Amino acid sequence: MSNPETDAEALACGALAEGDQPTGEPRVDVLSAREVPLGGPRAMRVRRTLPQRERTFIGAWCFADHYGPHQVAESGGMDVPPHPHTGLQTVTWLFSGEVEHRDTLGTHSLIRPGEMNLMTGGYGIAHSEVSTPNATIIHGVQLWVALPEEHRNAARAFQHYVPELARVDGAQIRVFLGELVGQASPVRAFTPLLGAEIVIEPHATLRLPVDTAFEHGVLVDSGDIRLIGTLLRPTELGYLSRGADTLTLVNESDAPARAILLGGPPFGEEIVMWWNFIGRNHEDIVKAREDWEASSDRFGVIEDSPGDRLPAPALPNAVITPRRNPPTH
Ligand code: MN
Repeated sequence: MSNPETDAEALACGALAEGDQPTGEPRVDVLSAREVPLGGPRAMRVRRTLPQRERTFIGAWCFADHYGPHQVAESGGMDVPPHPHTGLQTVTWLFSGEVEHRDTLGTHSLIRPGEMNLMTGGYGIAHSEVSTPNATIIHGVQLWVALPEEHRNAARAFQHYVPELARVDGAQIRVFLGELVGQASPVRAFTPLLGAEIVIEPHATLRLPVDTAFEHGVLVDSGDIRLIGTLLRPTELGYLSRGADTLTLVNESDAPARAILLGGPPFGEEIVMWWNFIGRNHEDIVKAREDWEASSDRFGVIEDSPGDRLPAPALPNAVITPRRNPPTH
């Protein structure tokens, strides 16, 4: 997925603020989504909950787009031409539909619901993502993970993983990154991370033991979910700072409720995010943009590319500076 937003201030991400220590009772922050058109000739709209002014990270998760269900016949589906990434991993997870992925490693992969594509674009990678004619409805999330300094120039990589369905009392869980309810994903990340799809039965209560060193986010796709006393509605992202050893989730709806659970220890580095690049300063972004515009080997070439490469937008006039996360509770 490509990020069409290039406002310097809104997309600069920061590390922990001073005094960021959990104190007192757990409190859930409710983060609302904003609608963003994806780039490309037929712009599908997505709901973005990370980054935003109130929060830039949950663990190393630094970007969360949630889309659909869209009727492909009406919206055109997903059609994101070749575009680059640096300093991050992309996680694609579908609830419905089918997407064809191509990248400059030579990967050509189809992804379907219940499967994860994890692409590492450390030093540089480019990819395209197009929904297939098999997809009548497109519905899912795309998430980005910031790479820590020592791995931010990691080699290109791509992994496809299909987690087992874990059935626990009142819920079904698919753990695509990290560990939860006895399920452990074998997929490598560069910092400790949790990523899972959770479907809770109507009016069921789910208690999930979690790592107290992790902060967590619950992105609600469908149903009304109460997270430790705070009601989250579809499209909202509930944020909980570290310190909790159990997440209590109650589905208050008459139908199954679905959410994506994210977690990780607070990411202790400042990053600068602009368009599809993550760096550590303005110069990193300028260089990555120049390299993409010059068709540098840094990003490679996609075989059988489904469309023309996306040109990088113009840089903002201002220097892109990191922004700090607000203090947590
Ligand atoms: Mn992308």
